[in-house]
Amino acid sequence: MQHTTETDDHFAGARAGMLKEIAQEAAEAAGWTGRSKLRAEVLEAVGRVPRERFIAAGEAAEAYRNRPLPIGCAQTISQPFIVALMSDLCGAGPGKRILEIGTGCGYQAAVLAELGAEVWSIESLPELYEGARTRLRNLKYRQIHLRLGDGTRGWPEAAPFHGIIVTAAAARRVPPALIDQLAAGGALVCPVAEGGSLGSLLGTPTQRLYLIQKDVHGVVSSRDVLPVAFVPLVEGS
Ligand code: SAH
Repeated sequence: MQHTTETDDHFAGARAGMLKEIAQEAAEAAGWTGRSKLRAEVLEAVGRVPRERFIAAGEAAEAYRNRPLPIGCAQTISQPFIVALMSDLCGAGPGKRILEIGTGCGYQAAVLAELGAEVWSIESLPELYEGARTRLRNLKYRQIHLRLGDGTRGWPEAAPFHGIIVTAAAARRVPPALIDQLAAGGALVCPVAEGGSLGSLLGTPTQRLYLIQKDVHGVVSSRDVLPVAFVPLVEGS
């Protein structure tokens, strides 16, 4: 699937520059993540998504900077490196079933779809849900299913999933329903706030990105991947 067209060719240079920065940051973060390179397919998928179509028209010039951007409703689209890293960690690829919590503008979902995955994505804010629905439909991403609601309950009718991505930070723990809905052999990626850390006591809370894996026997293990900064996951609404 190729969504970038001749009309957005003037972004081609910026897009290539962003991919370079993502690769560089992956190398720099290797001490944390344990891997210096992202899968080549992930970078290719990121390179096919027209990021300028996911943000406010006035921000288009910023679209390919490797940094988060506002998407309305006080929410942000993650930094492209983080989008790429999470896409890689959750194992998205052809034929994989991936659940995303926090559709936002739909950019992360589009990257997962470009990797060949079938995507189920849940957003709790109606305005963002509607915006993502229109945008992803216009871009003809047919293998993305969207739902308006509380993502902490997951999407039981479509479970189990090979991979789950939570793109907002849980306050204390990974929502248990999501772990239940992860297939054996699957991977779940979720930022969790570090309650009680020095940062949180001083008013600058820190978060860690966790990789939760379920082995073929259903045994769950978790690993701390990277310090991150996400908007909060709304829980128990
Ligand atoms: N992945 C998004 C960025 C997400 S920002 C993108 O690519 O644009 C985090 C999103 O999570 C916000 O849109 C926020 O409204 C949503 N969110 C927060 N708590 C949620 C919940 N419990 N269920 C579903 N969505 C939630």
